[in-house]
Amino acid sequence: MTKKIQGLAISDGVGIGKAIVIIPQEIVINKGEILHSEVSSELERFENSIQHALDEIDHLIENYAYTKNNQNILKTHKMILKDPEFYEKIKKLIQENLYNLEQAVDQHFKGVIELFSKMDNEYMAERANDFKDVKNRLLSHITNQKLDQMINVCSENIVIMPEITPSEITSVFDKNIAGLITETGSKTAHSSILARSFGIPAVSGIANISKEIDDDSLVIVDGYKGEVIIEPDEQILKEYQAIVEKDKRDKGKLEKLIDQKVQTLDGKVIKLKCNVEIPEEMPQVQRVNADGIGLMRTEFIFLDKEELPDEDEQFNIYKKIVEKMGDREITIRTIDVGGDKLSKILNFTKEQNPNLGCRGIRVSLLYPEIFKVQIRAILRANKYGNIAVMFPMVSSIRELREAKKIVQECINELENENIEFDPNIKIGIMIEIPSAAINSDFFAKECDFFSIGTNDLIQYTLAVDRGNEHIHEYFQPLNPAVLNLINLTIENSHKNNITSAICGEMASERKFTEILIGMGIDELSVSPGQFLAVKDKILSINYKKAKKIAEQVLQAGNVEEIDKIISS
Ligand code: PEP
Ligand code: MG
Repeated sequence: MTKKIQGLAISDGVGIGKAIVIIPQEIVINKGEILHSEVSSELERFENSIQHALDEIDHLIENYAYTKNNQNILKTHKMILKDPEFYEKIKKLIQENLYNLEQAVDQHFKGVIELFSKMDNEYMAERANDFKDVKNRLLSHITNQKLDQMINVCSENIVIMPEITPSEITSVFDKNIAGLITETGSKTAHSSILARSFGIPAVSGIANISKEIDDDSLVIVDGYKGEVIIEPDEQILKEYQAIVEKDKRDKGKLEKLIDQKVQTLDGKVIKLKCNVEIPEEMPQVQRVNADGIGLMRTEFIFLDKEELPDEDEQFNIYKKIVEKMGDREITIRTIDVGGDKLSKILNFTKEQNPNLGCRGIRVSLLYPEIFKVQIRAILRANKYGNIAVMFPMVSSIRELREAKKIVQECINELENENIEFDPNIKIGIMIEIPSAAINSDFFAKECDFFSIGTNDLIQYTLAVDRGNEHIHEYFQPLNPAVLNLINLTIENSHKNNITSAICGEMASERKFTEILIGMGIDELSVSPGQFLAVKDKILSINYKKAKKIAEQVLQAGNVEEIDKIISS
């Protein structure tokens, strides 16, 4: 019988396919004690199981990890297994506590996973997932039990998981899956941003969905409405097949816009760029002929690492991306990690409120030696293209001044060291904290451009956790407070002859394009998957009319009223 379940719309599109439920499997183990005389054979078993796990990972890297990111994740898993400290800890549990191998491995990983999981932030949770993966792989070899792998997933599948990490999204993208359903995850979580970038229809926020759907049942994911339909009847199936066909036709029409200039009906030119979170998105950025990269998040270079990436490593990553874009501008955002995201490397203590803690530019100013490595690498890569640099989470002028001073120091150093670089670089800031928007007139006098990060601006203006799907109705892009801060920022930038862009997810939603243009935004930087849809919207807008609508909206006092104005 047909069953409809309402969830949260995460990524547009409709997917129809066979369900494949992926639940991180717990391996059943027999814990127990061993005799002194069994210690050496248990250690031998340990060494063999490590070797088998390493061989399996090599096989995966060779045959299934198509992208660099996937390979890096698997390489990290190899490093965990090869870590001498890990070996010594297990050896000690076997020799001194007389634990059998299963118990020793289980106990060791339990502690590590708990430690990482407690740090309530997405990136650290990802680290915990890495250790879970390694633990399960190793135990599967020790106990001879098969692991349920992503390997079984194919393009006809709708993947159902309790939760998904950004690294897992990248691996399902490789398989070209039909759709994705998860139990947790909000619209601005980074895995959701990636689902949209890769164009995977996705719905989240349905508790226990992984238990409600059986493998191989026919499932429809309606990423527009946030609906999941299990075993649809013929009528519903036909309706959705028609939507899929229409989407395909629309996509075909959008492809024809690729070479058109991005401007409104009455000739106002808007720069339309892409956000890049991981290098795997670059082919799509090039394909849609974007005006540049308006936001290159650089966190991917730092996370999942045992050591900080050095200047040459960073330089090579930036150079590769820059060279792909020719003379189009690439705005590289300096590292934006939260207080505990880099704790393994930087030795941070756990913070009560990581989002209000040592994040973004605060980390860079606290560790200028790490910041300088990134700035030097950016300045060197600038020689090969057209880079702008911007700082995240700026809340006061002092931070901007200090960061600019460090950029100047790097320029002086590179000059003295006779290293090739290009000092001509625009410096901008993200406007994502209300204080920065309110003080934007002062900021505009000391930097070259603004880029409004609406994901955080909404979070901090409305005091609503952007990652918490239970309170998603409080995350309101159309709240008058948010719109007035955006408008104020744009006004102040223009007053001071600099530009304003929007790189938060609001820029990727066609629903908001008209009022953003009406407020005078110069640039939109969007998810590569939404680029052509937003371009299509811009081409249909009359700037003069958009200005009037924006004026009306800015007079309105509540979301409902604003919603009505922009929908009429
Ligand atoms: C934002 O906050 O809107 C933004 C673009 O940055 P991030 O999503 O990486 O915090
Ligand atoms: Mg942000």
